[in-house]
Amino acid sequence: MMPEAVLTQAREEMLDWRGSGMSVMEMSHRGKEFMSIAGKAEEDLRELLAIPANYKVLFLQGGASAQFAMVPMNLLRGKGKADYVNTGQWSKKAIAEARRFCDVNVAATSEDGEFTSIPDQAGWRTDPDAAYLHYTPNETIGGVEFHWVPETGDVPLVADMSSTLLSRPLDVSRYGVIYAGAQKNIGPAGLTVVIVREDLMGEVLPGAPTLFDYQVLADSDSMYNTPPTYSWYLAGLVFEWLKQRGGLQAMAEINRRKAGKLYDLIDDSGFYHNPVDTESRSWMNVPFTLSDPGLDGVFLEEAKAAGLLTLKGHRSVGGMRASIYNAMPEEGVDALVSFMRDFEQRHG
Ligand SMILES: *Cc1c(COP(=O)(O)O)cnc(C)c1O
Repeated sequence: MMPEAVLTQAREEMLDWRGSGMSVMEMSHRGKEFMSIAGKAEEDLRELLAIPANYKVLFLQGGASAQFAMVPMNLLRGKGKADYVNTGQWSKKAIAEARRFCDVNVAATSEDGEFTSIPDQAGWRTDPDAAYLHYTPNETIGGVEFHWVPETGDVPLVADMSSTLLSRPLDVSRYGVIYAGAQKNIGPAGLTVVIVREDLMGEVLPGAPTLFDYQVLADSDSMYNTPPTYSWYLAGLVFEWLKQRGGLQAMAEINRRKAGKLYDLIDDSGFYHNPVDTESRSWMNVPFTLSDPGLDGVFLEEAKAAGLLTLKGHRSVGGMRASIYNAMPEEGVDALVSFMRDFEQRHG
């Protein structure tokens, strides 16, 4: 979802952005109008996340999937190995891509338990010479989330925050690189936000494309080539909306409550089931199954008729998944909870 207020504002500004006589889509990315939009978006994101001055913020294309390659290309810096933590489908993709560039040490995995938990850090087998440690704070498909930050000493910590960035406050200084495809919790598809500590840039893998070099991208203010201007603009409107709502502390309270309502319903019922360890459950993605999978189709049809959309689980796991990102209002979760209660009474 996008916040409705943001879509309304975009509609109002669609043909003529603030008296400029142009739609944002028609602006030159180097013109003063778009430069002001881009600058304001970065400023607001820095404020929301309290990003320290020694970090660059990049607004890129290619999605989180391009970062699976750009992270090793930029962070290996002469080292041939990196640590990865495997907590689900997205971790696995990041690992597979990193293997094209270096030796990957899987420091911990929850694959044995079908990715329903986060491995306790006491049991991780990390390599002190690793170029960095990569993990996925929220596994979007499995609905498994770290509610703590790994401790890696001097080894830079890298996080794929595609489905959790901006859901709550964050201590950016604990990280070397944070990246997120925008389309889950930030804005529309087509934009990728990367936050990178300055001292980690400038030693890209020989032969890497220019466009994949964090240093080049930072030096050109993410405008080495034409950036995704309209997505950047919409993300900026979302940042303003988050600030108006009280920032990330306020969002965290709402998100915790929203997720809690769904998990309470699931746990109190013998009809719905969520397989994830209680302490590692995602605030953003709540997967659940029905005790009779034969009812999945009926559930989805009736949900759709009730105005509750895109509840089908990922094709790799089946069942249902409620993605309840920032833009999902609490009333949306309330509506889902009462629909699920009613469905259970009629079919359970
Ligand atoms: C969706 C998702 C991705 C893939 O993002 P793209 O922008 O489509 O490349 C990667 N990691 C996580 C955690 C995701 O949720």
